[in-house]
Amino acid sequence: MNQTKPNILLIYTGGTIGMIRDSKTKSLRVFDFKNLLDKIPELQQLECNIDAFSFKEPIDSSNMNPAYWIQIAEIIESRYESFDGFVILHGSDTMSYTSSALSFMLENLAKPVIFTGSQLPIGDLRTDAKENLITAVQLASLQKEEKPIITEVCLYFEYKLYRANRTTKVNAENFEAFASSNYPELAESGVHLKVNEQYLWKPNFIKPLKVHKTLHTNIALIKLFPGITEAVMTSILNTSGLKGVIIETFGAGNCITDVWFINLLRETILKGIHIINITQCIGGTVNMGHYETSSQLKEIGVISGKDMTTESAICKLMYMLNGEISYKDFKTKYEMSLRGEML
Ligand code: ASP
Repeated sequence: MNQTKPNILLIYTGGTIGMIRDSKTKSLRVFDFKNLLDKIPELQQLECNIDAFSFKEPIDSSNMNPAYWIQIAEIIESRYESFDGFVILHGSDTMSYTSSALSFMLENLAKPVIFTGSQLPIGDLRTDAKENLITAVQLASLQKEEKPIITEVCLYFEYKLYRANRTTKVNAENFEAFASSNYPELAESGVHLKVNEQYLWKPNFIKPLKVHKTLHTNIALIKLFPGITEAVMTSILNTSGLKGVIIETFGAGNCITDVWFINLLRETILKGIHIINITQCIGGTVNMGHYETSSQLKEIGVISGKDMTTESAICKLMYMLNGEISYKDFKTKYEMSLRGEML
């Protein structure tokens, strides 16, 4: 590899972006990443060396799970010293989950890890894949005084670079499929590539990368709705082995004040199960105690998920239940921003 140019590793996990339409059968099939430069010659014009790695069996991202997240983390870990940046091609459906998870798993990350994908396959005439891929590689190659400018896990889609753990997929058809309501874009691609440096994560270049590979999945997510029954809530909260629950509440963290509801949550917390309050709203934050309908949650020890996305709240919970954090410290740590995922 040419040592003067940044070395970028492209990791293909699956999803629409890596598919091409067979000229004879017209059906979509997985793209052979060994021929990447032939298919997208524009990549050769970029100021970087590109190497590609593909999952043996690329998957639709609806089948993603923590075992695959660990696989991605291990690919990065084993090649961390040889590459200056990583671009991960992933289906858009669960991209916010995988990228949020990776943000927690890769502690002390000091290089760019940029997720991207597309709504249309790379071979389609009107594809968004080429722009997404080319700009993601360009962003991963940006350096200042031989150090990467971006040093966090990001998601690039339709001209915008976001902090990954702040994103949510909000549209199933539009090219602009993602939103980051509670945190500004890290960069925008227009005539120029505009990086909003004031919003970038400040890395610790001294501490070595620490990859966390234990994720606890015995958790639950409950979205409150008017009329939710005691039977449903009781059944979920009594799931055997349950370690944590995320409740998507109304507005600024408000919920039902019925005695059965508060008592049930209190009993659950007393059993040692963590309960986290996040809002169903796409933007804004939980503020327990602001309304009477959330004061009791605060009193019984519900954890505030503040302005976190559901995706991030789930991944942070799986990561923090890895056994390294004591029950006593859990609430304080969960309410802290670990990777810029909350206020
Ligand atoms: N279902 C596909 C996936 O998430 C959609 C996409 O690639 O965007 O893998």
